[in-house]
Amino acid sequence: CGVFGVVGVKDAANFVALGLHALQHRGQEAGGIVAHDPEHGFNSAHRFGYVRDNFTKASLMETLPGPIAIGHVRYSTAGKKGAVIRDIQPFFGEFSLGGAAVAHNGNLTNADQLRRELIEMGAIFQSSSDSECIIHLMARSIQKRHADRIADALRRVEGAFSVVAMTRTKLIGVRDPLGVRPLVLGRLGDNGFALSSETCGLDIIGAEFVREIEPGEMVVIENGLVKSSRPFAPAKSRFCIFEHVYFSRPDSQYGGRSVYETRRQIGVELAREAPVEADLVCPVPDSGTPAAIGFSQESGIPFALGITRNQYMGRTFIEPTEQIRNMGVRLKLNVNKALIKGKRVILVDDSVVRGTTSRKIKDMILDAGAKEVHFRIASPPTAWPCFYGVDTPDRSKLLAAKMSEDEMRDWIGVDSLKFISLDGLYRAAGEAEGRNKENPQYCDACFSGEYPISPADQLAKGFRM
Ligand code: 5GP
Ligand code: SF4
Ligand code: MG
Repeated sequence: CGVFGVVGVKDAANFVALGLHALQHRGQEAGGIVAHDPEHGFNSAHRFGYVRDNFTKASLMETLPGPIAIGHVRYSTAGKKGAVIRDIQPFFGEFSLGGAAVAHNGNLTNADQLRRELIEMGAIFQSSSDSECIIHLMARSIQKRHADRIADALRRVEGAFSVVAMTRTKLIGVRDPLGVRPLVLGRLGDNGFALSSETCGLDIIGAEFVREIEPGEMVVIENGLVKSSRPFAPAKSRFCIFEHVYFSRPDSQYGGRSVYETRRQIGVELAREAPVEADLVCPVPDSGTPAAIGFSQESGIPFALGITRNQYMGRTFIEPTEQIRNMGVRLKLNVNKALIKGKRVILVDDSVVRGTTSRKIKDMILDAGAKEVHFRIASPPTAWPCFYGVDTPDRSKLLAAKMSEDEMRDWIGVDSLKFISLDGLYRAAGEAEGRNKENPQYCDACFSGEYPISPADQLAKGFRM
């Protein structure tokens, strides 16, 4: 998911709509905005579909006036799959202190347990979302200020969370102690501030990047001032390494370095670790493109666009049902036959999850007359599900959980298949020494099976680490 918030400008909701549009790659099912204006109070809109199809309409945006607003783009990882408008964030609560709205990116690992407790205590849940727990926990806090209630609530939850919240006057941003999901702060005009999942959300509204919200930090922004606090026990940060590989937009920056550069460097590392003789390096667009550029630069094998992506389709994986996902590959990708015929082709993609995409792409490339097909993958084998906000299927559906690398090669049906090593991935992400085995610098649980936060609800349901 993507979260965004703006305070201190006229018609903040318009800026939020733009920010969410830039974060659309983080969630395409639905979007929502809550705004507050002293005259009209809190107003909200929750819609299915793309931001550009909903939050561009003057008739809708006029209903969201005011100098403060937050928003969310959704991709369901927790909660029931499928379309229920009540599941669309931000969630709003009316408290004795006044209203507050909350938007959450990440996944709470103890939400099932909390939901049961809260329901027993009389909470009436509106949605199937894990994130709704935050509002109910705030309602039960005895603190006198919203920000303290949010802190109270977030001390009870476990998991990954980057939260953007608002009251009548305050914009609030929080990252979980490990900082699994991103959140950045920007300055907008003279008196305004913005919070965004990624820096690309700041760029689109012309906000100036100030800094990342730090893992375990809470910022409360009011009257042009940013107050920082540390509501949680200190922990070593474990940012999601898959944000670098796939999830974030390549023009976003973390730690002063663009995601594009990390991805290109992954390609360089891959070319060193798994060289192969071939005529062309082709990305599986768009997610494989920067790594393919790096692979080509390092190997000297020409880069070519052997596969064209229809720009009007979304990300296949993010479509919530298997059936739509299966259709997606053909609807989305097509091979340039004239280019591929008779060639030995290296295909670079970001990840193999179920393997169905790779298999179909291989078929398309062979149908086009390729002589050899070599897959190079910009992440290690995905052998474990993510419980922190990226939608991976059950372990039983992950190809790498069932098969060795050679078995995967044969199942996909290609001449060779190589994944970047975990150390190579860390080096590409700027860790010159590779992965620190005792204290890994990132979360990499979907590759290593080492979960930095206990997936309590999953363990209760029988998941075995
Ligand atoms: P599969 O192997 O399941 O057929 O699909 C892998 C493809 O799905 C990759 O090309 C990758 O770009 C895409 N993808 C989209 N969203 C995600 C995601 O959230 N996680 C992973 N691992 N891959 C994703
Ligand atoms: Fe990111 Fe993988 Fe960790 Fe999930 S398990 S937070 S996708 S690195
Ligand atoms: Mg892809």
